[in-house]
Amino acid sequence: MNSENHNLHIFFLPFPGHGHLIPTTDMARLFAARGVRATIVTTPLNLPLVSKIIEKSKAPSNSNINIVAIKFPSVEAGLPEGCEHVDSIPSMSLIPNFFKATSMLQEPFEQFLQQHRPDCLIAGAFFHWATDSADKFGIPGILFHGTSSFSLCASECMRLYKPHKNVSSESEPFVIPNLPGEIKLTRMVLPEYVINDDDESELARGRRKIMESAGRSFGVIVNSFCGLEQIYADLYQKLVGKKTWHIGPVSLLNKDIEEKANRGKQASINEQDCLKWLDSKKPDSVLYVCFGSMANFTDSQLKEIAMGLEASGQNFIWVVRRTKKANQQEQEEDDKQEWLPEGFEKRMEEKGLIIRGWAPQVLILDNEATGGFVTHCGWNSTLEGVSAGVPMVTWPVSAEQFYNEKLVTQVLRIGVPVGAKKWVRVVGDSVQKEAIEKAVRRVMVGEEALEMRNRAKKLGSMAKEAMEEGGSSSLALDALIQELSSRSGQ
Ligand code: UDP
Repeated sequence: MNSENHNLHIFFLPFPGHGHLIPTTDMARLFAARGVRATIVTTPLNLPLVSKIIEKSKAPSNSNINIVAIKFPSVEAGLPEGCEHVDSIPSMSLIPNFFKATSMLQEPFEQFLQQHRPDCLIAGAFFHWATDSADKFGIPGILFHGTSSFSLCASECMRLYKPHKNVSSESEPFVIPNLPGEIKLTRMVLPEYVINDDDESELARGRRKIMESAGRSFGVIVNSFCGLEQIYADLYQKLVGKKTWHIGPVSLLNKDIEEKANRGKQASINEQDCLKWLDSKKPDSVLYVCFGSMANFTDSQLKEIAMGLEASGQNFIWVVRRTKKANQQEQEEDDKQEWLPEGFEKRMEEKGLIIRGWAPQVLILDNEATGGFVTHCGWNSTLEGVSAGVPMVTWPVSAEQFYNEKLVTQVLRIGVPVGAKKWVRVVGDSVQKEAIEKAVRRVMVGEEALEMRNRAKKLGSMAKEAMEEGGSSSLALDALIQELSSRSGQ
């Protein structure tokens, strides 16, 4: 079908955060591999992040991808110059300014859209204005939320039925109405923009606009596969009243070492060194610990994690979002700061590898030595864990991560919760070392671990099948391209 799609031109507008830029770039590559012309529209400082992913892949069809940058109005929105990525927002109080800047992007983006008139726009859902922009020029606008159908359903059911308004305390559990699976939450795991969703804060308004925009869109693309969450995929389609296409896990597009190792930032470890370390370990014997690109912990929490890992007796790779210092003296000073127990690295020389900064996550997860994943339940990480067939310790922090935790632990039964009980923006809830040790042992050793691992491996195989020719995700992508082609008369 490739030759038929040569004239189809799709714009991709990813939200400027790693959790959106990475899967959107993979998505553009998937379309390009089917002969579609893809233009990724981003901002000047995010452009290299996108181009690096594409350059590291040798696929000839990448020549169908074009990347363009439009100016991000950081200063105009009250942000420091160069603040173009959620990673670089200097303080939490400036988050609304970041969203303001994304709104201000509408006008220059529309000018660009008018000039190029693509056949379709696929936009990150935080650009809730994108549906209307596409509409103005008669272009079908598709939204990409970047999360699971399960959490989209949970979020929509929370908005519709507001069960949190019927409990009398923060810790009293309630069931999410009309969501299959008897999913229980407490008010503590909800962000304030969900608790007070009728207030007029920038974030609460933004959430409402996203839901409304999905309802007006041409449809919604989900980075997931039907076999993983069929009932929620069906329910979401019903709730949103639009077509949905489950075309993932898109990260499975990355087959070779170079592709798997180069996603997002420059990795802080050489991929060959990382593989050498992993290859020296037995299959399923290494626990990978990483909390995505945004979550942070206090020094005392990091110390608890270190002690929990040590007490668990497991091999581990632990990604700590601290960058390596420029010189040895500064590094020693940083290490002396209370975040590592004394002598930890020496004692863990054989068993543990700490990566300070950015890890080649997919490369690590896909290695056969990796047998478990402590994750913050960001959707990309969760799905990468599912694709790799590893059981998980779930440690949600913010965003929709507490919903994803329920999918992993309760619906799919491939993980155990570490016991994080409170939604916190960026800095994770505190969890004691004993709870960490216990959860780690539960996913790594014993009968329960084996059962979870078997289920996880089965899901991993199903994920791969979905992406292969004739698989559900591959067929969904074909169907979408077909629909867009016939719409544009090509
Ligand atoms: N990631 C990575 N190395 C790291 C941290 C994150 O490659 O050290 C990638 C990870 O594989 C995933 C993305 O960054 O694709 C993070 O997205 P996710 O939705 O899991 O979490 P977020 O960062 O948005 O909270």
